[in-house]
Amino acid sequence: MWAAVLRKGNIEVTQVPDPVPGPGQVLVKSLSCGICGSDLHTFQGATGAAVMARRTGSPFDFDPERDLIFGHEVCTEILEYGPETQGSLKPGTRVTSVPVGFAGGRMHAIGFSNDLPGGFAERMLLTESLLIEVPEGLSNEQVVCAEPMSVGWHAVKEAGLSTDEVPLVMGCGPVGLAVIAGLKILGMHPIVAADFSPLRRRLAASFGADVVVDPKDVSPFKQWDEVAVPNGRALPAMGYEAFYSAYASRRPCVVFECVGAPGVIQQILEGVPPNTRVIVVGVCLTVDSIQPVFAVNKMMTLKFVLGYTPDEFRESLQHIASGKINVRPMITGRVGLSGVLQAFQDLQNPMQHAKIVVEPKRQNWYERTLSRFAGVGAAESR
Ligand SMILES: [Zn+2]
Repeated sequence: MWAAVLRKGNIEVTQVPDPVPGPGQVLVKSLSCGICGSDLHTFQGATGAAVMARRTGSPFDFDPERDLIFGHEVCTEILEYGPETQGSLKPGTRVTSVPVGFAGGRMHAIGFSNDLPGGFAERMLLTESLLIEVPEGLSNEQVVCAEPMSVGWHAVKEAGLSTDEVPLVMGCGPVGLAVIAGLKILGMHPIVAADFSPLRRRLAASFGADVVVDPKDVSPFKQWDEVAVPNGRALPAMGYEAFYSAYASRRPCVVFECVGAPGVIQQILEGVPPNTRVIVVGVCLTVDSIQPVFAVNKMMTLKFVLGYTPDEFRESLQHIASGKINVRPMITGRVGLSGVLQAFQDLQNPMQHAKIVVEPKRQNWYERTLSRFAGVGAAESR
């Protein structure tokens, strides 16, 4: 099969052996697969990412010297069942899944595994017990968005919000948008969101943000203050009285950090009012530094979150199916396998893109010609 393979730090479109389903596994055709920020980070530093995975004990453990096929935000179609399966869904049924699988006696994160190919390939293996049939009427791209939406849904659920709190979402990439969508579903109001990119600010508004800020022009914290303290009361930013009752009439602040770049948490610690809770959703892979005294003086709470449960994944797919979340405006590009490398580069520019999906059957002239010379059935013919 054709695949976009991460090989020695580069992405090559090449032919690799078809995966063969083992016990409990299902061979599926990858119809559409989203490119995620974690793919970009791993591409930029596969060795560092692998070392971090091992040190933190996460299933994103792989050997950077071996081939890896990215792609964990998937919409697929059942081709064939392996041994020890029930086969309850017919071949041809569209399915998705939480991106984990089992091979060699351990759990793998699909798309970050040398043994289980991700969705940037024509075919992949999913676990039968984890399959979710795609609800009627959803496009492949909408299904792909269930995975990133789950990340935000998990974050807002983990936050344990009270409706009195006024959320501030820092960063409106796919994760920030998912958080905004989740906040909206939970009835939080108003929602303040900040991003430097006009495209992402537009998307934030369409996902449900009530107040959208360009941090270049206005401090997101000042903007939050205007919304949360509508009467313009002059209150001390810090100080003994700020710890306790002086802020009783101000609605509490909860910040969702969805940038994942060094320095952002410190900016938040400095900018927010006392007693703020910070939910860190962005994944910063480098060393970051904070001055704890800001958080100490403001008696703040920091909570870090990651991923989602299988139930949250199903719920997110339902949110899209029922129209509670309109993910369509988030898809800003579509590429075939040969466009993956360029898409990785294009996604570096947040002014132009939010989510690009890979459609493995979308071939360019080069691949079609190669397929013919290789005498293999081109994906376009399927
Ligand atoms: Zn993802």
